[in-house]
Amino acid sequence: MGRRRQLAAQLGFDLERALMTVQEHGANVVTFHRRRPEGGQCVFSTDALATDVPGQAIVTYHADCFPLLFADTRRGVVAGAHAGWRGALAGVATQTVQAMHLAYGTSPDQLDVLIGPGICRHCYPVGREIAEQFASRYGREARYLEIDGGDVRLDLAGVVRLQLEDAGVESDRIQSAGWCTREEDRWFSHRGGRAGRFLSVVIAP
Ligand SMILES: [Zn+2]
Repeated sequence: MGRRRQLAAQLGFDLERALMTVQEHGANVVTFHRRRPEGGQCVFSTDALATDVPGQAIVTYHADCFPLLFADTRRGVVAGAHAGWRGALAGVATQTVQAMHLAYGTSPDQLDVLIGPGICRHCYPVGREIAEQFASRYGREARYLEIDGGDVRLDLAGVVRLQLEDAGVESDRIQSAGWCTREEDRWFSHRGGRAGRFLSVVIAP
């Protein structure tokens, strides 16, 4: 942190307002735009954002994929993430926890996490090739892969919970909304044929 402060002092930028990357040797580019459509700033090619700016909202879009809301109340930091099977496999939950640690000093055991509404494990059959990817990463006996004859169902919320626990978030501080977007008409659902996306919002205190 000392060298970052030195650099900021030498170049004359405000370190407190600097945006920092969490690198994963991928190819994603996050771009910021001065124009603010619909009153907000869209951050492209990212599935998770964090802020400690008081009153600032983070908005994510969902239709069966899970919203993950993170809060470090001690530091006034919040984060919002979008987790479908691709994001879960890529470790978006873990990446968010690590990003909050790097950017704000949040330790995982100080986090409260809400896993919002999404497609439940009974409603989410996935292809063999997707199941194989999860199985090879976490083991075939893992509790979130339910193999029933030729059908494989994925417990996406279970995967996310496991990742959060592995990252050091305390299990009793991970809440799950438990609402299934496919089964319940009030949600948009890709699999359920209700076109559209619902918004998830988390606001920094
Ligand atoms: Zn369901």
